[in-house]
Amino acid sequence: MSDLEAAIKTNSGIIAEEKIRALFPILHQEVNGKPLAYFDNAATTQKPIQVIEALKNYYGVDNSNIHRGAHTLASRATDYFEQTRELVKTFINAPSVEEVIFTKGTTESINLVASTFGRKFINAGDEIIISTLEHHSNIVPWQMLCEEKGAILKIIPIHDNGELDLEAYKNLLSDKTKMVAVVHASNALGTINPVKEMITQAHSVGAKFLLDGAQSTAHLEVDVQDLNCDFLAFSAHKVYGPTGVGVLYGKREVLEAMPPYQGGGEMIKEVSFSKTTYNDIPYKFEAGTPNIGDVIAFAEAIKFINQLGKAAIRAHENRLLAHATESCSKINGFIPIGTAKDKVSVLSFGINNIHPFDVGMMLDASGIAVRTGHHCTQPLMERFNIEGTVRASFAVYNTMEEIDRLVESLTKISKRKN
Ligand code: PMP
Repeated sequence: MSDLEAAIKTNSGIIAEEKIRALFPILHQEVNGKPLAYFDNAATTQKPIQVIEALKNYYGVDNSNIHRGAHTLASRATDYFEQTRELVKTFINAPSVEEVIFTKGTTESINLVASTFGRKFINAGDEIIISTLEHHSNIVPWQMLCEEKGAILKIIPIHDNGELDLEAYKNLLSDKTKMVAVVHASNALGTINPVKEMITQAHSVGAKFLLDGAQSTAHLEVDVQDLNCDFLAFSAHKVYGPTGVGVLYGKREVLEAMPPYQGGGEMIKEVSFSKTTYNDIPYKFEAGTPNIGDVIAFAEAIKFINQLGKAAIRAHENRLLAHATESCSKINGFIPIGTAKDKVSVLSFGINNIHPFDVGMMLDASGIAVRTGHHCTQPLMERFNIEGTVRASFAVYNTMEEIDRLVESLTKISKRKN
């Protein structure tokens, strides 16, 4: 039995925090004289030792450029790189590895679709639907496309609890809609959107659906065949993997119909000055030397999640979220922002009239890391008429004791005079 399996088998399937935490070297340090409590997981998760070791091993043993080399190191690196693609395929239940494209991150995945699918298939007067919950990376690429093409951006409003107004969504859909791009789980509020139903509705008017999975892939089962999305974008660094790697899944027939993203090596079949032919998917969209080492190390992050199982991860995080939500609600002046019924483990809030940044600084003095500000969702903050929030977001290695420390510190902060 592996360490990880042993960790979940303890306490009849409940995640044994200490065994999980032992795999994350970064967690075992003091910050400002206090043990680190890392609650900035929606920004980026920490990395288990297997991921760190895989990176070290790649540069120490296997480093080589991939796909072209005739030598042993090159074929080893290529095999490892392509094994990650296989793992990603299974992780999201994509029908084939050809539909899995490596990018730099969610942002690049969305930009790739906006600039290739958009360039070819979106024209003046066409409509693109996004929602009030979107991260800037799922707003700005579509705004840029609309500006260039004379297309129109439509926004799904939200209710006060941070859930999408699904009636309004239905009314926005029409035969003019060419693309719906919506976040699966909100990074700022935690809201989980009922995307399966929304995808069916988008398809009923002939639109394509891009799912921003940046905040869902670490917590929820994301099965692209079950959801039937046309595209899925997510980042490795939010699922316990390295920075600088992202995934774009696209349905084969859509990817094959799209023009290439960037020109260069790897994305071609043959180049001559009179005519160049493009490579097959996924390579058509992977110009240049990719982030080989980080892609290879990403495999270890996926194995880590697979060994724990999303159900066990979600159950643990839900317990943390429920405990944090309940305990914080007793603090004087605590104002939760985003109270959707179905949430990933994100607690966003204000406290009295204290500026979120000041709350963040005071928590940091106690070794507690949270994020403050607009969380790259300025239109959403505007909807709530606030500048920003304090956001504590939980991962599988967080503990009830850490939450108690957060609540204790927030209680003290709430008693301060402004
Ligand atoms: N979408 C959402 C919902 C996010 O939370 C993030 C990262 N905060 C992104 C997109 C962008 O991801 P990345 O910066 O890794 O490209």
